[in-house]
Amino acid sequence: MSDADKLIGGFRRFQNKYFAGEGQLFETLKRGQNPSTLFIACSDSRVDPAIITDCDPGDIFVVRNVANLVPPYEVDGTFHGVSSAIEYAVCVLKVKQIVVLGHFACGGIRALVEGYEPQTDADFVGRWVRIAERARYQVLAPGDDPAIRLRRCEMAAIVVSLDNLLSFPFIAERVERGELELAGWYFDLEQGALYQYNRGAGAFEVLVDSLAA
Ligand SMILES: [Zn+2]
Repeated sequence: MSDADKLIGGFRRFQNKYFAGEGQLFETLKRGQNPSTLFIACSDSRVDPAIITDCDPGDIFVVRNVANLVPPYEVDGTFHGVSSAIEYAVCVLKVKQIVVLGHFACGGIRALVEGYEPQTDADFVGRWVRIAERARYQVLAPGDDPAIRLRRCEMAAIVVSLDNLLSFPFIAERVERGELELAGWYFDLEQGALYQYNRGAGAFEVLVDSLAA
């Protein structure tokens, strides 16, 4: 089976699930969307937030990019894909929750941890992951196991993105009024477990333990 055949077969199964019979979900969705959660996730093929949370179409609004990063609020007249999606989700769709979803073995964060230097302005990944430069410095303790350092940086970068979300005035206002909640999740795809950032404790805690635990 070709790659295209696999995808077309997948669309047929999706079609049968959502467009056959009565009470179709898309009868509602064709009139508009009303998701209550914005996910900011990595482009990595293993961490699709809709798949790992078993969501239906219409449930979540999603932004995906390298290393699930949120840039700081910048009004500089350039093109801001992530910020525009955040603005639409918060100000127009009025989501109640934003989840930054990081993950184990993130290639973008690995480039950051290893201190990869962008060679030119056209080195988009090298420049992009610098958003989380602060996270890199936080995990630079010498002698650490590289795998542990990477995991720490993956988690620390989630916190950078949460802080950057609060730099958007329309987010800070809504959080202050209790209309919007921010969460940082870490998908450990090695163990099949989910962690959540506890800002009070300054640490990630188990949200859903692995099946082996
Ligand atoms: Zn990633």
